[in-house]
Parts: sequence; C-alpha cells; structure tokens
Amino acid sequence: MTRIADLIESPAEFLEEPGALIVNGDMPIQQVVRAVIDTGADALGIALPDYEKPVYLTRARLLELMLRELDNIQKKVNELQSQLEHQLANQIELMEVGAACLLEARKHKLESAVHNLMDGMILFNEKGQIEECNQVALRLLGLPTEADSAAVTETLAHLGFAELMQPGELAAPTQGEFQVKSGTQRLLRVRWTRIRDEWEHIIGTAVYLRDITNELIAENTKNDFITAISHELRTPLTSIQNAVSNILAGVTGKVAGKTREYLQSMQQDCRRFADLINDLLDIAKLEAGNMPITCKVMDMDALIRMTVKEFEQEAQKAGIRISAQTQGTITPVYADIKRLRQVLVNLIRNAIQFTPSGGTITVSLKTEGNDIIACVQDTGVGIPPEIQKYIFTKFYQVARQAGPGSKGSGLGLAISKGIIQIHGGSIWFESTPSKGSSFYFSLPKADPQFVLTKHLEAIPKTKDSNRQTAVLIIRFESASPEGDIRDAAEKIIHDLLAQSRFYLTCSTDLALQTGESEITFVINESNHQKIDNVRKRIEKMIQLSIKKNFSVLPILPMMGMAEYPADTKNPNQLPEIARIKMSNRDMQTCPGNKK
Ligand code: ADP
Repeated sequence: MTRIADLIESPAEFLEEPGALIVNGDMPIQQVVRAVIDTGADALGIALPDYEKPVYLTRARLLELMLRELDNIQKKVNELQSQLEHQLANQIELMEVGAACLLEARKHKLESAVHNLMDGMILFNEKGQIEECNQVALRLLGLPTEADSAAVTETLAHLGFAELMQPGELAAPTQGEFQVKSGTQRLLRVRWTRIRDEWEHIIGTAVYLRDITNELIAENTKNDFITAISHELRTPLTSIQNAVSNILAGVTGKVAGKTREYLQSMQQDCRRFADLINDLLDIAKLEAGNMPITCKVMDMDALIRMTVKEFEQEAQKAGIRISAQTQGTITPVYADIKRLRQVLVNLIRNAIQFTPSGGTITVSLKTEGNDIIACVQDTGVGIPPEIQKYIFTKFYQVARQAGPGSKGSGLGLAISKGIIQIHGGSIWFESTPSKGSSFYFSLPKADPQFVLTKHLEAIPKTKDSNRQTAVLIIRFESASPEGDIRDAAEKIIHDLLAQSRFYLTCSTDLALQTGESEITFVINESNHQKIDNVRKRIEKMIQLSIKKNFSVLPILPMMGMAEYPADTKNPNQLPEIARIKMSNRDMQTCPGNKK
C-alpha cells in the first residue's frame, strides 16, 4: 500500500488552511480518502513524522495526489504486462522447439519400431497412398530394399490389395484377414485394420504381413500324421467293436454278471474312441480344406425337430427338459444335412453335458433378413468370460478342469465352426456363468428358384407311377383389373407356408414362395390319388385363409400342376409345364367358402 507521506514530495507546497481532520502520514492513501469522506472535511492535516507541524491540503489536492498514484500504478501494470508478454513469447518459442524435438524423437522411435518389426508392415494414408513400409514387407513382397512407393503400390495392386488401400465407408469392416501368395511363391497372411482419429474418421490403414509358408508345412505334416494314425487306429478299433458286440450278443455263449459289465464298459469306451478318431479326421479334413460336402435342399425346421426328438430320452435321463421351438414352417436351405446334423448334435450334447438336472434346453429357429438362425439355449453352468475366447479353439477342453462334460475331446466346437463356415454361415454364442449359454449358427437363406431347381435335379429317376413327383404352382391375381392384391396374397402365402406341415406329408416335400404373389409346392413320392388329395387340402387351406382374412374375395387363385413321370421325363421341366397348365380356380364354388 502506498503511504500518503510518500505521495507528498515537497510538504512545503501544501501549507494551506488548517483542516478539521489530522491524519497520520503513514496511513495508506485509500484510508485517508475514506476518513475524509466519512468526516466530510474539506481540508485535512497530515502529520508527517519528520516535519514539525502537520501539512495541510484540500480535498481537491488529495484527489489530485490519488490520481497521480493511480497513474503510477497504471504505468507499472503496463510495464508488467509487456514484461509478461515478452516472457510468454519466449516460453512459447521454447515449448515449440521442445515439442518439435519430442515429435521428431517419437517419429524416429516409431519409425525404428516399424522397421525392426518381425512382421512386414505397410501404412496407408486416408487417400490410399503408402506412408510407411518396412524392410520386412519389401522382402516378403519380393521387392529390393531400395524399392520406392510406386513399385510397392504396383506389386500390392497386383496381389489384390487395391480394395484394401481404399478406405471404405464407416460401416464397412474395419479389420480383416486373408492369405495371398507372394511373387516369390511364399504364402503370406495379411492382417489389416483401419486407423481412426479421435472423431472416428478413417485416417489410414495398417497392414501386417507374415510369411506362414513354414507354419503351414508344419501344420500339414502334423495333420497328415494325425490322419494317418487315425486311419490306422480305425481298422483295429472296428474289429474290437464288432467282437465285443458279438460276445455281448451271445455269439460265443452266455455272458452274464461281471463279464457283461466289463464288456459293456469296453463297448462304451470303444464308442468314445471311435468318436474321437472321427473328430480327429474331420478336423484334419477341415483344416486341409477338403471336407467333402454334399449339398441338397433340406428342411432346417424338420432337422431341428427330428434331432431334438433323438435326444429326448438322454435329456430325460439327465433330468433336463428339451424342446424344439420352431415355427413348423418348411425352411429350405441348400446344405449337407449330415454335417448340419453333426453341428446340432454337438451343440445339444454339450448343452446336456453342461446343464445340471432340473434345467431346460430349447432349440429354436428364426429367419432374420437373408439368414436363418438356429439357437441351442441351455440353463446350464455357463462359460466363464476369461475362457470364452478359447471356446472354438481345437482341443481346448484338454486344459479344462474336471467337471461336468469332461469326457469330450475338445474338438466339437472347432468342427462345428468349420462346417458352418463352409456352408457360408457363422457360429457364435452368448453365455452367463451359472445362468446358461446360447449357441447360435446362421446359414444364408437360399434363393427359392435355386432351391426348386436343385430339389428337382435331385429327384431319383423313376418309371413307377406310385412314386410320382408333382409341382403345383399357385399364383394369386387380382379379381378386378385395378386392384392391388400384394398384401392379400402375402397373407394367404404366409398362412400356406405356416401350415405346410399339415398338408405336406413326405419329409422331402417343399413349399416355397417363388414370387411376390406365387407359391410353389413339390409333392414327392406319391401316386396320382395321393397327390390329388394334397392338392385338395391345399385348396381347402386357401379357402380357409381367404375366409379368415377377407370379407369379400379380392383375389383370384390360379393353379397349375404337372407330374413326373406322367407329364414329362425331366423333373426340371415340371414348373414350366405347371405354368402352361395354369387355370383359374373358382374359390366361390369350392366347398368351405360358402357364406
Ligand atoms: P467337448 O464338448 O468335446 O469338450 P467342444 O469343442 O464341443 O468340446 O467344447 C469345448 C468346451 O466349451 C467344452 O469343454 C466346455 O468347456 C465349453 N462348452 C461348450 N458348450 C458349452 C455349454 N453349452 N455350456 C458350457 N460350456 C460349454
């Protein structure tokens, strides 16, 4: 604080009228001003310690002194501000230099990390241009160490990387993996991932290359070895199994008591051993990419219900309730029925093994977009989160602690994954420890025309009039020229598909929506009379559906049917002939539609 004495440079100048108020010269100027305002004094005396009498000055002079003081303060503040600005500028300059050095050091560190990686690494910027490419990548691509970006880009484009270099849309996959053969005939595993900034914009792509040729050779040798051993074991095992079965059946005389028990346990172990050998052979075939798959049109809904039925007894013995919750609608997929059954069996068997008595297992099927999704859900022990990522790894179970289900080989899920993948689908699961697990697999929905063609191609050649195949096509047309019947046709077709199990009796029969307002039925292995009965049942279903959904008949069903071998020697021509024979069915006159 500035003392008032400090402000009075020459006290002699202020010897004026004595004032009513005398203040101490050591007081800060602010206090003096306040004292003057409080007392209302016009002039005041200031007692200065080194002056005999007080110095007198008026209010106006006091104000003047104060303004001078403020002026001084302002000057000091200005000085301070310019000093600070100067210091700040120095500091910023220093920091800029420091940051540049730090960035340079970091960049250098990153560059040397990239160059010293064991894997090849290429960094693309957001425009798909190469930003970084290490020596390993050049070597793996068969390029000289001095190759420039243009040469690398050309080689990559040649190897099929062009799409990868162009960052796609936000929704496009952000990472992936594939394999390519390099110019030097080495097999490379390519892993890529998009790089994003803090606002999630794609700013480039990182690509990692690894030479897996030797890994693959070692893996193939191991698989060949396992396959050879498994084959060698299968023959003696089959004869042991046959011998035990024969002894148990009494071929060598009566078997009773302990001997029977021992033999039965031998039979069980042989079965498990055979399962293990089959699993080993399957996994080897899947890994070598030569698992034979025989695709046919099959009904997924029927497969689920049939497989669940097979497990009813086993589940009941374990005190578990098992059920199939499907729509009952024919759900055609083009797949290998034996292999899909194998997947379902493995999932259901696991569910039984890992579900304590009193639990439930539900196998369901639904359609979602272009996929059909099957689910095996249990209320069992669940899978701990820390091991969930290993579940599809082969032999995973080997590391498992003893517990429920410990008798498996640890190959079931790996095989299931392989089978689903070769059908173009995917497999996944959700699990909560002590609550249960749901294993899902999806399969692509097959195009109905493709399904129909494949199904007809697979019909066995016959001349037997009792084993005919019929194709029945029903197309709904509008009863009036301007009417839009799409919704109405959709409703009736939906009813027909949902109820198809009730009027189609053979497991290979099909009901397919083959157009917006068209449904096609394939009726297999029947004589003309039976086929005609099915046709009548279908007509009845249409009448019921029309009656249920509409008060007036907005729709005209057209129906055409062709039979093999009666109408053609080639089952593939059945849809064409059925279309030619198509005629109007008057539903008003059909029984059951009378109002
Ligand atoms: P396996 O059944 O022969 O052991 P899998 O590959 O079919 O081999 O399964 C691997 C492991 O995954 C099992 O050992 C078990 O630990 C776990 N698992 C699979 N299905 C289930 C399930 N439904 N509930 C709990 N754990 C499961």
